Amino acid sequence: MKRLAILGSTGSIGTQALDVVAAHPEQFQVEVLSAHSNAELIIDQAKKFRPNAIVITDETKYEQVKDALALYPIKIFAGKQSLNEVVQWDSVDMVLAAIVGFAGLSSTMAAIDAGKTVALANKETLVVAGELVMQKAQEKKVSIIPVDSEHSAIFQCLVGEDLNSIEKIILTASGGPFIGKKPNYLLNVKASHALEHPNWTMGAKITIDSATLMNKGLEMIEAKWLFGLKNEQIDVVVHPQSIVHSLVQFTDGSLKAQMGLPDMKLPIQYAMAFPQRLRNDFKRFDFKDYTKLTFEEPDYKTFRNLALAKDAMYKGGNLPCTLNAANEIAVEAFLRNRVSFIEMSDIIEGTMQQLSFIEHPTIEEYEQTDKEARAVATELVKNSQLAS
Ligand code: NDP
Ligand code: MG
Repeated sequence: MKRLAILGSTGSIGTQALDVVAAHPEQFQVEVLSAHSNAELIIDQAKKFRPNAIVITDETKYEQVKDALALYPIKIFAGKQSLNEVVQWDSVDMVLAAIVGFAGLSSTMAAIDAGKTVALANKETLVVAGELVMQKAQEKKVSIIPVDSEHSAIFQCLVGEDLNSIEKIILTASGGPFIGKKPNYLLNVKASHALEHPNWTMGAKITIDSATLMNKGLEMIEAKWLFGLKNEQIDVVVHPQSIVHSLVQFTDGSLKAQMGLPDMKLPIQYAMAFPQRLRNDFKRFDFKDYTKLTFEEPDYKTFRNLALAKDAMYKGGNLPCTLNAANEIAVEAFLRNRVSFIEMSDIIEGTMQQLSFIEHPTIEEYEQTDKEARAVATELVKNSQLAS
């Protein structure tokens, strides 16, 4: 029986993780759940899964949650500091890090510090501070098992292999809803359009990142740290059907790919159950439904965010942290119709140019970079043509 802390249980990954728990009650027990603001949903989840504790990080929701669960033997905590404490409890075996954005960094670090196995969905953690996170994981002998489908694919391809025999990895990208479009078309696209992902149903932030291809840029950086790769060893290919989830090319030229229907429950379940594979009744892939699988080069000119992320990966230091923070601000502004699709790249690029470069930041310097980058990006949002 694995005892889980699911951070971000009200999100797209979190709710699917709970579906996996519900399907395998003999394997998993929920020890901790966390939400930010969705009090109604975490109350329902708490009643159903009976965790030992829940954390609501938005403190204004504490009373509501406490009142609703007054008759249940569940400890209720508020505020983000509580996350860092509950993940370290002896009663937690595995932490599923499924909070979105920079906000997930500190609790993931706390979990690693306490020697907990981490199932990592929160890619921003590795984008921002991958070097420090992986160093700490090594020091504490902690396994970080990826949930992100591409990284799960690579992880699965590497089981039984020597990491030194990797020549390169190839991350597949669906291309998002605007695949094949040119900058002129992108000038006028709205958030509602960008939120319609062809293959995956996900949280709003990652769905916009998929439309801009920033998601693939973040995933290049995530892969670099997760698998200890050099920048040159990381490639991206656009594969609109999302059946091949990624590939590893070995030093003998052999390629291994992991395939399956696009369903996040698969990599979530794999990470939660690793090293076991659990039976399930998920829909199976059928070649008759996919007579053609296609692969093409990404368009770095149109999807500038991908080029910016690649640049940040090569330059390193605090630049990926700056990129991430500016992107979080830009995406939020785009979702509120405050900036256009194209302007998101201008904001990220402008922020990257303005912040000072730190080659080997400490965790405090990452926090400072994040703060400063958010401030600069917020100013740049105000210059948008949509601002009135
Ligand atoms: P969602 O937006 O659906 O969910 C985010 C979760 O984080 C919610 O539980 C939310 O709480 C919580 N949260 C938001 N802000 C904060 C905060 N400041 N402090 C604490 N908790 C917070 O995101 P997804 O589930 O889509 O994504 C989660 C992570 O997984 C992201 O890093 C994403 O990149 C990654 N990922 C997601 C995939 C997917 O298919 N969705 C695929 C691969 C990776 P509440 O809703 O209660 O406010
Ligand atoms: Mg992914």
